[in-house]
Amino acid sequence: MTTVDVAGPARALAIGAHPDDIEFGCGATLAKWATAGCEVSLLVCTDGSKGTWDADADIAALIARRQSEQAEAARRLGAVGEVRFLGEIDGELEVTMALRGAMAKIIRELRPEVVLGHDPFKRWRLHPDHRAAGFLCMDAVVAARDPHFFGEHGIGHHRPAELLLFECEAPDHVERVGEAQIEAKVRALLAHESQFESTHRISAADDGAEAAAFRDRVVEKCRSAGRRAGLPYGEAFKRVERV
Ligand SMILES: [Zn+2]
Repeated sequence: MTTVDVAGPARALAIGAHPDDIEFGCGATLAKWATAGCEVSLLVCTDGSKGTWDADADIAALIARRQSEQAEAARRLGAVGEVRFLGEIDGELEVTMALRGAMAKIIRELRPEVVLGHDPFKRWRLHPDHRAAGFLCMDAVVAARDPHFFGEHGIGHHRPAELLLFECEAPDHVERVGEAQIEAKVRALLAHESQFESTHRISAADDGAEAAAFRDRVVEKCRSAGRRAGLPYGEAFKRVERV
């Protein structure tokens, strides 16, 4: 049974492995909630330092560029909360107690009603950071909600009402989105200009056709997610209630 639309949250936190993962996974949903007044915050686990095919790239410059692209993408989603970075090395994210604590502390500080993250159980997923980010997200929600975890944080525990996992193995929930939110998602994804060649498949010589094809792929994904619930467009999630 597929559910549609959680209660619109006042605060939401989306957690992604790399700059751009959040927009791919739940950008239209975040844009929808932001329009309704939700304080949307983003947490990116890694520094994006592997995100180029240029073997001679200036890595420090790439990291800085990807952080500013992420901030611009958040603006394009209408996210007025915070954009935070754990700053772990791209490709080397690990499920450690230290990172669980760091993530739980951010959840306790931002007090989101809904947390969104990667589904770590998606089978045959190639990228280890997506798996690690998913496990960290789930483990951090548990640590944030119970008072005897990480007492050294010195701040109150916080229990989110819902956890929504994107790019998921077994979707059972759809957030309804409209064309305006899909356009916001596309605009946010296009803020990640450093990823045009490697992820978006938009070459430097593009005359607009490749960018249009990219947009079409995003729209089609929202269309097929919406179909799960008989809606024109949506984004699909595994919903974890009773957090
Ligand atoms: Zn990624």
